[in-house]
Amino acid sequence: MASAKEKSRVKRDGVVTETDYIIVGAGSAGCILANRLSADPSVSVVLLEAGGADAHLFYRMPAGYRQLMKSGMGNWKYESEPQAGLNGRRMYFPRGKVLGGSSSINAMVCLRGNPGDYDEWSQLGNRGWSYEDCLPYFKRVERFDGGPDDYRGGDGFVGVSRGPSVEEMGPISKAWVRAGIEAGYPYNPDMNGKTQEGFGPINANYAQGRRQSASWCYLGPVLSRPNLKVITGAMATKVALRAGRAVGVEYSKAGQSKTVQLPERLYWQAVLSIRPFSCSCRELAMPKP
Ligand SMILES: Cc1cc2nc3c(=O)[nH]c(=O)nc-3n(C[C@H](O)[C@H](O)[C@H](O)COP(=O)(O)OP(=O)(O)OC[C@H]3O[C@@H](n4cnc5c(N)ncnc54)[C@H](O)[C@@H]3O)c2cc1C
Repeated sequence: MASAKEKSRVKRDGVVTETDYIIVGAGSAGCILANRLSADPSVSVVLLEAGGADAHLFYRMPAGYRQLMKSGMGNWKYESEPQAGLNGRRMYFPRGKVLGGSSSINAMVCLRGNPGDYDEWSQLGNRGWSYEDCLPYFKRVERFDGGPDDYRGGDGFVGVSRGPSVEEMGPISKAWVRAGIEAGYPYNPDMNGKTQEGFGPINANYAQGRRQSASWCYLGPVLSRPNLKVITGAMATKVALRAGRAVGVEYSKAGQSKTVQLPERLYWQAVLSIRPFSCSCRELAMPKP
């Protein structure tokens, strides 16, 4: 179903022994890091991803979300332990297992969060986390189809759609927004703008009919960089340590165990690990097929 061009977005794997940066997990964070780090042509970057390519149409078309959830494609399909409060039932926890990670299978709702929460984090002593501090980064990320202003960015990597106006909404959404207004709340045309309060449309991470996954926005445009190597189907199994320092990552691919390592001159440098190693050991040791 995918075109040859789309398939060729994923480089063919080869044996890699040394690199300056190792990124584990090509999810939202991993794709952005791969893009930013490999912008410096003097360094080499290896990105390991346990899942496969995101060439299937369902990863691209926003309406593919339902199909992805139904089929479990590109998904670790985690389950919680049985929950006493749920009569012993387990909760389903989908997470992306594909280039783009969860950004390739998520619901595309684009909501920054309430500025008051950021300000509270900052007041609690987390310097750099106030809404004012974060705003330049929010703006830098996005290409908002409503155009740039004090709160919105216009030329970032990620296309963000305003969502439908009340007139364009389906009958249920329309009734919901009208009910909010009748109850005395303001109409808010932009929840990521000056204020979050009110009823209105929600922004979405799609543009020109395409899901704006981290793979599509950050990885695709730089896959031709000679200093970036993306290895799919590579399940990282271990961070190799020497004298307490991370010097490489072991991974398994197609039943074979391989190692990517930092050159000795870079042993002081960190192996970058995205989410996988912050999961519990149980998740790492026993991923669902
Ligand atoms: C079904 C669903 C719906 C969601 N809806 C929304 C939404 O509407 N709006 C919103 O803002 N957020 C939503 N989210 C959350 C959002 O997508 C995630 O918070 C975000 O993508 C997490 O980014 P990440 O880089 O931390 O992890 P991920 O994007 O999950 O990336 C982790 C990557 O690491 C890989 N990996 C894991 N273990 C290993 C290993 N051992 N070796 C190699 N690779 C490994 C995984 O395969 C994956 O590709 C949703 C998430 C899901 C799952």
